[in-house]
Amino acid sequence: MTETLIPPIEESLADLDRLDLRTRMFIDGEFRDAAGGDRFVTENPATGRPITEVAEGGPADVDIAVAAARRAADDGRWSRLDPGARKRILIAWADLIETHARELGLIETIDAGKPITDTVGLDMPETAACIRWHAEAVDKLYGQVAPSPEGTIATITREPCGVVGAVIPWNYPAQMAAWKLGPALATGNTVVIKPASTTSLSLLRIVELGSEAGLPDGVVNVVTGPGGTVGEAIGRHPDIDCVAFTGSTEVGRRFLHYAADSNLKRVLLELGGKSPQIVFGDVSDLGSVAANVAVAIFWNMGENCSAGSRLIVHRSRKAALLEAIESELASWPVGDPLDPATRIGALISKDQMERVLGYIDIGRQEGARVVTGGSRILEETGGWFVPPTVFDRVTNDMRIAREEIFGPVLSVIEFDTEAEAVAIANDTPYGLAASLYTHDLDVAHRVAREVRAGVVGINAYSEGDMTTPFGGYKQSGFGGHDKSVHAHDQYTETKTIWIQLRPPA
Ligand code: NDP
Repeated sequence: MTETLIPPIEESLADLDRLDLRTRMFIDGEFRDAAGGDRFVTENPATGRPITEVAEGGPADVDIAVAAARRAADDGRWSRLDPGARKRILIAWADLIETHARELGLIETIDAGKPITDTVGLDMPETAACIRWHAEAVDKLYGQVAPSPEGTIATITREPCGVVGAVIPWNYPAQMAAWKLGPALATGNTVVIKPASTTSLSLLRIVELGSEAGLPDGVVNVVTGPGGTVGEAIGRHPDIDCVAFTGSTEVGRRFLHYAADSNLKRVLLELGGKSPQIVFGDVSDLGSVAANVAVAIFWNMGENCSAGSRLIVHRSRKAALLEAIESELASWPVGDPLDPATRIGALISKDQMERVLGYIDIGRQEGARVVTGGSRILEETGGWFVPPTVFDRVTNDMRIAREEIFGPVLSVIEFDTEAEAVAIANDTPYGLAASLYTHDLDVAHRVAREVRAGVVGINAYSEGDMTTPFGGYKQSGFGGHDKSVHAHDQYTETKTIWIQLRPPA
C-alpha cells in the first residue's frame, strides 16, 4: 500500500476544492456533450448531495462512439502498431495513472463512497498495475505451429476481436475498467465502454490520461448514461464484436438476449456471487480467521462480487469465532470516506442502502438473530451508511443466505460434518469464490476440489493477483476470465493459416 499517497483529511478537503472534474463523454479523442444535450446528476454517497452533472448519452452517442472505434479498428492505427509500441503507450498510461493516484482516488471516493485509504492506496495502484501487466505481455506471447503433415505448414495465431463493448459496475469503477481495458487493448482491440451511472467520473479522467500517454484517437471511447439506454445500445449494436459485462446476474442475462437478437456478438459475463467461507473445527488461530472473514465480507462495504457473505462454521467453533469477529470489528471504523482512518464508507446510493436494509429486515423476519449492526447509522450526514451486520442462526434456505445482498451483511450457518459443509457451500446458484480454513492438508485439498467456484482461497480470503484468472461457475458468469493471460483469450479470435508447400521441382 502506498501510504505516502494518502492525504490527511484536511488536505483531502483542500484538494477537493481544486478538483477539475471531467463530465462529458470521451469519443474519438475528445470530450463532447451528449447528442441530445442531456445531463444527469451524480451524487456523493457520503453526503447525499450532488457533486456535478454528467453528459447523459443515448443510442445516438453509442453509434458515434462505435463508428469511431470501428474506424480505429479497421485502419489498424492500434492493432497494427508494433507490439513494442503498443506496450510502451500502455505502460506510459499506467505510469500516469499512478502519478495521479491521489487525484483519481479522491474522485473515486467522493463519487463512490469508498474509503480514501482504499481508493488511493489500492484501487488506483491496482488499476495501473493491471494495465501495466497486460502491456508487458504484449510482446511476449507467441502463436503456435501445428503438427501438420509433411508438405504443409499450419500456424495458429490470435487476432483482435475488433470493437469491444464494455459495461461495468460501480463497486470498483477504475479497477473494473482496467480489467476490461487492459487485456482488450493489449490484444489490439478498440473499445466503447460505459461506466455505471453512479460512478462515471474517475473513468473520464483515466481515459484522458490514456490520450496523454499516446493512445490514438478512437481507440478508447467512453459513453456515459443509463444502462437501460446506453448499456442496451452497446449490447445490441451490430458493429460491436464482443461485449464484456460485470454486474448483476439479472442484467447479465439481458446481454445474452441482446447478442442473440442482434449480431451474435461474443458475450463475456462476470456476475454475482454468494460465496462461502468454511471454517473447520480444527482451526486454532481464530483471531486471524476473523480478520480474514471481516475482509471477505466488509471490505468495500460488502459491495464486492466475491464477498464471502456466507460463513459456514463448525458448530464447535461458532461461539468463539463470533466473539473474535466482534473484537475484529473494533478496527473497522465506519464514517467519512475522506478520513484515512475510515475502513467502511458509504453505500453507493440511497436505493442500494434501502435494498441492504430491506434484506436485514427479511433476515429478522426469517428468524435469524442480529449479533451486531442491523440498522442505518450516521443519518445526520445525509450519507448512506450501514455498519457491519452479522446474522447468527441462519439456515441456507433463507433469502439472506441465497440472494446477493451486496452490502456489509454476513450470514452465519453451522455445520457438523465435512460433507455437510461442502453441500451447504455448493447449495447456491452462484459459484464465484470460496475460502476455507483448516490445518488439515487432506481436508483443504479435498474441499477445494469439491467446492464449485472459480477461485478458492485456503486459509486466506483471496482473489489471487494479476497472474491468476478470475471468473465464476454457474450463474456467476461465463465466456471468459478477467486477469492473467486467460483474459487475452476472451478478446481474441483464433486464426488457422494452412500453407500447402509446392513439391520440389
Ligand atoms: P446492474 O447490473 O444493474 O449494473 C451494472 C452495469 O450494467 C451498470 O453500468 C448499469 O448501468 C448497466 N445496466 C443496467 N441495466 C442495464 C440494461 N438493461 N442493459 C444494459 N446495461 C445495463 O447492477 P445495479 O447497479 O443495479 O446493482 C444491483 C445489484 O446487482 C447489486 O445489489 C448487486 O447485487 C449486483 N451487482 C453485482 C456486481 C458484481 O460485480 N457482481 C456489480 C454491481 C451490482 P447504470 O449504472 O446506468 O444502471
